[in-house]
Amino acid sequence: MLGLMMEKPLLVGSLLEHAERFHPEQQVVSRLVSGEVVSHRYKELAQRTRQLANALLALGIGPGDRVATLAWNTHRHLELYYACAGIGAVCHTINPRLHPEQLSYIIEHAEDRLMFFDTDLSALVSKLAGARRGQMCWVALGHEADLNSAMPEGCLAYEPLLSAQGDELQWPQLDERAACSLCYTSGTTGNPKGVLYSHRSTVLHALISALPDSAALSAQSVVMPVVPMFHVNAWGMPYAALLTGAKLVMPGNGLDAPRLYQLLQQERVTLALGVPTIWQSVLNYLDEQQLRFTELREVFIGGAALDKTLLQRFEAIGVTVLQAWGMTELSPIGVVNRPLPDSASLGEAHFQQEKLKQGRGLWGVDLRIVNDDGQTLNWDGASAGHLQVRGHWVAGQYFKQAESACSADGWFVTGDIAHIDPRGFLKLTDRSKDVIKSGGEWISSLELELAAQSHAAVAQAAVIGIPDAKWSERPLLILTLKDGCELDPDSMRMHLQSQVPTWWLPERMEVIEQMPLGATGKVHKQSLRERFG
Ligand code: ADP
Repeated sequence: MLGLMMEKPLLVGSLLEHAERFHPEQQVVSRLVSGEVVSHRYKELAQRTRQLANALLALGIGPGDRVATLAWNTHRHLELYYACAGIGAVCHTINPRLHPEQLSYIIEHAEDRLMFFDTDLSALVSKLAGARRGQMCWVALGHEADLNSAMPEGCLAYEPLLSAQGDELQWPQLDERAACSLCYTSGTTGNPKGVLYSHRSTVLHALISALPDSAALSAQSVVMPVVPMFHVNAWGMPYAALLTGAKLVMPGNGLDAPRLYQLLQQERVTLALGVPTIWQSVLNYLDEQQLRFTELREVFIGGAALDKTLLQRFEAIGVTVLQAWGMTELSPIGVVNRPLPDSASLGEAHFQQEKLKQGRGLWGVDLRIVNDDGQTLNWDGASAGHLQVRGHWVAGQYFKQAESACSADGWFVTGDIAHIDPRGFLKLTDRSKDVIKSGGEWISSLELELAAQSHAAVAQAAVIGIPDAKWSERPLLILTLKDGCELDPDSMRMHLQSQVPTWWLPERMEVIEQMPLGATGKVHKQSLRERFG
């Protein structure tokens, strides 16, 4: 027997409608590339979004069309998210830090019809001007006066496009399975692959990410996604904030510590989200300038492993750290680390160790760990294997790829190696392509890196496997040092010895000037392998 409840599709546009009706005075504060900080209320955001949607329709954009962005976190980018989704088009966010060749590949592959860009990216834009053989129209995110002759021919300006339109619009009823946004993986191996999110997956992800055991958002929250809107939809915050009526603070391209600190303080941000490297630089700045946060209560960290030092530094200033694990193919949230009711009572050592795990599963994402032979492993906190997931906001297939992205029995293979403890806490130990296979056993490059990074002289650590005649592979430790520091290899060996098994200890260490980083700010191990492998 079927239930007799209404069936209402889960649509992204409903989040904006809700924010406009129930939180009309709530603000989105944005730092523009000009440096100006502007504020819009949700009711103005909704009006501007309808004007933008009318402009997109006037430019011939229809259901399924891809509208690209090369843009920072601002209210305009937010308007693009909602206007595209609202008319059934697809907002394709692109990472401007990718190599121009990869950018061209992505633009061609996605067949983008329009490209909205922030004006500080004009030099990059001029390199891409010929993309899509002139079939793509360019729009600068600014006023008429922001246009210049270096921009692609026929380039339009955003603000006049909006002001030429009225804000009356009846949003179309869409299928909740329709695509609303597109984000390509960073493509460290092979070409980038497109992950095509649906209205349904996006709304369910927003609901779950707002829960108390996740980002814990409410209308009292002031949220700053430092993680860019081109990096997996700023981890879903542009949706979850409107769902809950939280205030949004958008840092634009001001991602250096002084400007981030100033905006965090000025706008009284309570929750900020970003990768570990951002927080290291912010904390260093605080120490140098002898500053403190007055309102910031929580930071949400993901994208790379949280190390003990970073956790302790935040705890020392009264800020709670939440680690999360996820990936582009998971919209991105997979697990979040919030304590269980008994976590604190199990002893300080246990609690500290638990806090450094990536987190526990949320409703909607199933997890399993599988060995090389495809057998499912127990959740004993030790048996590491391939992490596989399935759920409402997990990719089943990549854009324009006929084959499934999943295993024969329907699980997405994440490429990460992890174990899960009996309490459900997941601990990531490696990427499957980075794990070091030494004498038939696995050495976790991630754990070695975290251990090395906790040495007082070390700025950043990376471990790669190098061929070895006897053991097949051995770890090589590559380091950058903090300013003015030197490193005695023996002191590093002693330091590591207390934290990892003796047979993991690298025989070789290299100190380099600068760590090669990829487009999402993570260490680019492929370059290290080419250099040292
Ligand atoms: P994002 O960096 O936003 O999580 P990507 O798709 O670019 O998304 O990268 C996903 C990969 O990043 C994961 O497969 C995992 O290897 C790594 N990663 C994400 N979160 C963590 C974390 N908390 N700890 C360690 N590695 C992580």
